[in-house]
Amino acid sequence: MNLAGIGLVLNRIESHLKSLVDEERFSLFDAISRFAEEEVAPHLLQWEREKRLVPDSLIEQLGELGIFGLPIPEEDGGQGGQMIDLVLAGLALSYWSPSVAITPGAAVSLGINPLLRFGNDSQKSEHLAELAAGKRMFAFGLSEPGRGSDAANPEVVAEKTDQGYVLRGEKCWSTNAAWASHVVVHALTDPTGRNGHRSTCFIVPRDRDGVSYQEMDGKTVWPLSSTGSIAFDSVEVSEDEILGDVNGGFRVMVTTLNGGRLFVAAIALGSLAFALDKTRQYVQEREQFGGAIGRFQRVQDVVLEMDLALERNLSWLIQLVNRYDEGSLDREQAAKVKIDCSRVASTLLQDAMEVCGGVACLDEFGLARHAADLFVTRVGEGSNRALMSQISRSLLPDIADQLQ
Ligand SMILES: Cc1cc2nc3c(=O)[nH]c(=O)nc-3n(C[C@H](O)[C@H](O)[C@H](O)COP(=O)(O)OP(=O)(O)OC[C@H]3O[C@@H](n4cnc5c(N)ncnc54)[C@H](O)[C@@H]3O)c2cc1C
Repeated sequence: MNLAGIGLVLNRIESHLKSLVDEERFSLFDAISRFAEEEVAPHLLQWEREKRLVPDSLIEQLGELGIFGLPIPEEDGGQGGQMIDLVLAGLALSYWSPSVAITPGAAVSLGINPLLRFGNDSQKSEHLAELAAGKRMFAFGLSEPGRGSDAANPEVVAEKTDQGYVLRGEKCWSTNAAWASHVVVHALTDPTGRNGHRSTCFIVPRDRDGVSYQEMDGKTVWPLSSTGSIAFDSVEVSEDEILGDVNGGFRVMVTTLNGGRLFVAAIALGSLAFALDKTRQYVQEREQFGGAIGRFQRVQDVVLEMDLALERNLSWLIQLVNRYDEGSLDREQAAKVKIDCSRVASTLLQDAMEVCGGVACLDEFGLARHAADLFVTRVGEGSNRALMSQISRSLLPDIADQLQ
C-alpha cells in the first residue's frame, strides 16, 4: 500500500493554540512545527527502521534553534523564556515524534531545571551556557533497578570521606544517557534521617573514573531516545558537586518532576493532535460500502471525541504551565494533568487506530508509533497509579493513613 500521498490537513492543534497563547509564543510553536515537519518527519521511518538514536546532527540543529536554552536567562546564554516555551516546543516536536521531543524535553525539564532552581552561582556559570547550546547534557538519575515509584530512599549510596563522598550503585532508565556529559545522581547520605531527608543530589561527570554507561537493550517505546543504565563503582565526588542541600536531594528530585510532568503531558497531547489530524484525513479518503468511512456516525464520534479532548486538555495544560511559570502550581495539579493527558490520549489513540482499520498497524501510517510511545507517558515521571495513590490521600483525608 502506498501512503506517500497522504499528507495532513491543516492541523487542529494550531487552531486551539491560537486562542491560548500570545502571538509571539504562537510564532515559536509555528517555527518549531515547521522545523519538525521539514527536518524530522521525512526521516523518521528510516531512523526507526534502522534502529538509530536521534542523530547527532539533529541534536546540533536543535541546539542552534535554541531549544535547549529556552528557559535559561539570556545573561547565562539562553533564550530567556519560561516553561511555557518548552511545552510549546514539546507539542510541536511530539506531533511527529515523541522520542525526538523527549530528547531536548528531558535535557531541559529534568536536566537544566534542577540546576536553574537549586544550583549555586559557580555551578551555573560552569554549565549553563554549554547546556543552553545543547553541547552539554545532564541526565536525571533518580530511578534504580530496585527503586522505581519508591524513590525516596535510594540504594545508590554516597559515603562521606575526608575529601568529599564516594558513590556506589546503579541508576537505570536514564533518558539521554548516551549524550549526557553529567548525571544528576540521587544518593543516600543519611540512612537514619527523616524520610525524604536522607538523600543528596550530586552533579557527576559521566567520564569520571568508575562511571560506566550502557544503553538499555530491547526498549520498544521512544525508539530514537537514549535510555541508559549508569553504574557508579566507587566514584569520588567533591562537596562542590552537591546540587542543593546535603540531605535535601529528594526535594530537588520531586520539585524537578513537577516541570517534567507538564512536559510529559504536552507530548501526550502532541501525539493526540497528530492522531486527530491523521484520522480526520484518512476517514474522508477511505471508501467502504460506497462512500467515505467518515460518513458513519460511529467514526465521526471518535474524531469529535479526540478534538474535544485535545481542546479541553490543551487549555487546562496551558493554564497550569502559566501557573508553574508564576510559581503557584502545586504538585498535585502537575500530577493530575500528566495522569489525565496520558490516559485520555492513549485511550483515544486505540480508538483512532480502530476506526482507521488495518492500515493503522503500518509503521508508515504513524499511529502505531504514537500509541506505543504514549505508554511511557503513563509510567514515566511517576507511574500514574502511584501518583493516583498520592492524590487519593488528599481526597480521603480521614482515612489517609489506611490507604495502600
Ligand atoms: C522510557 C523511559 C524513560 C525514563 N526516563 C527516566 C529518567 O530519565 N530518569 C529517571 O530517573 N527515571 C526514568 N524513567 C523511570 C520512570 O520514572 C519509572 O519507570 C517510574 O517511576 C515507575 O517506576 P518502575 O518502572 O520501577 O515501576 P514500579 O515502581 O515497579 O511500579 C510498577 C507499577 O506498580 C504500581 N504501583 C507502584 N507503586 C504504587 C502505589 N504507590 N500505588 C499504586 N500503584 C503502585 C503501578 O501500577 C506501577 O506502574 C524512565 C522510564 C521509562 C520507561
